[in-house]
Amino acid sequence: MKTEKLYYNDSYQTTFKGNILEKYVVQGQPALILDKTCFYPSSGGQISDRGMIEGIPVLSAEEENGKVIHYLEKEIGAGIGETVCGKIDWPYRFDHMQQHTGQHILSGALMKLWQKDTQSFHMGEEISTLDIPAMVLDEQKIREVEQLTNQIIYEDRVIHNYSVKNNAELKEKGTFRIKHEQFEELRIIEIDGFDISACGGTHCNRTGEVGLIKVTGWENRKDKIRISFLCGLRAFADYQKKHGIIKNLSHYFTTGIEQLEEKIIQLNLEQKELSKSVDRMERRIVEFESEELKKENRREEKDFFLIDKLFMEHKIQNIRQMAQLLAREEKSIIVLGAEKPEPVLCLALSSDLKFPVKEMFNKVMLEFKGKGGGTENLVLGKLEREDDLQKAYQRLVQLILS
Ligand SMILES: [Zn+2]
Repeated sequence: MKTEKLYYNDSYQTTFKGNILEKYVVQGQPALILDKTCFYPSSGGQISDRGMIEGIPVLSAEEENGKVIHYLEKEIGAGIGETVCGKIDWPYRFDHMQQHTGQHILSGALMKLWQKDTQSFHMGEEISTLDIPAMVLDEQKIREVEQLTNQIIYEDRVIHNYSVKNNAELKEKGTFRIKHEQFEELRIIEIDGFDISACGGTHCNRTGEVGLIKVTGWENRKDKIRISFLCGLRAFADYQKKHGIIKNLSHYFTTGIEQLEEKIIQLNLEQKELSKSVDRMERRIVEFESEELKKENRREEKDFFLIDKLFMEHKIQNIRQMAQLLAREEKSIIVLGAEKPEPVLCLALSSDLKFPVKEMFNKVMLEFKGKGGGTENLVLGKLEREDDLQKAYQRLVQLILS
């Protein structure tokens, strides 16, 4: 015996009574089959309903051979043949009705405007998508399709729901967007004067209930295009969220919403110019400081010169650049470090010296849990802890001098 699908005749029915036909457990999950139900099982791209049966949560519903299987959170007390009361989660269902009806309107508009039939539809918990054959799509075209779909909503057209038994009956209605050769019975959803298609889902009675359709994006996929969209309360919530973001940004940048885009572009350009100028200045500071180090921190050892300094603050790239500049001096070993923004150590060697700098550096890095690397003439690494920097620096100098 098949389950009578009450949602076929009335999408707005939320409560019902049904007799238990079967009850069993699949992989620990109790399943229940009734002689009739309001619960829509997941199919045709639409998510299944959820709700309660005798106060027990229905987590999902699926269809198998004309039977609707309700998956319950826990086993139901009632036995086979007994009558139970069910109630679907109405806000959840209505959201699905809005998304699904919106899809019919959008599919109808894509057909009307560019003769592109919908190949598949997927309703997500957050966003829905539909696929159409490949075409050149742009913002202008998206605006055009949004204009038409929302126009159909505002015209508040009636949506008819009926069944046809054969192709002759179907042809009488007009065969727009329907490609079904053989069938026993086909459920038809007709948006008055706009679109006819076969569908087993739950829909609104009038287009006005969809409220709003917004295309949120599209992507080209081989031979098709996937269009993402939001309908009804989802689209409204999206508008509220985005308007909030824009308003906050406008407040933050002390400019009107209309001028916001221009302002951000302008600030971004200014920021890039500033960043270039900071780089130029930092290079000059590095050159200047290198000269100072040569004068004040260069000491003669047995057969080389040692230049060393630990800075309070310097960017890694500045430390590296300074070490490179100083390594141009003859017979020099350079040890530099900086505490902030992150603890770094650098060891460099002029090209006229042979010295196992890498080995020494790696030894210190291992001892103080640092990470880094480099060439035979320049090694650079970061330490895990700022507190270790002083000790690691001294250890490195000590190794070089020993
Ligand atoms: Zn449908």
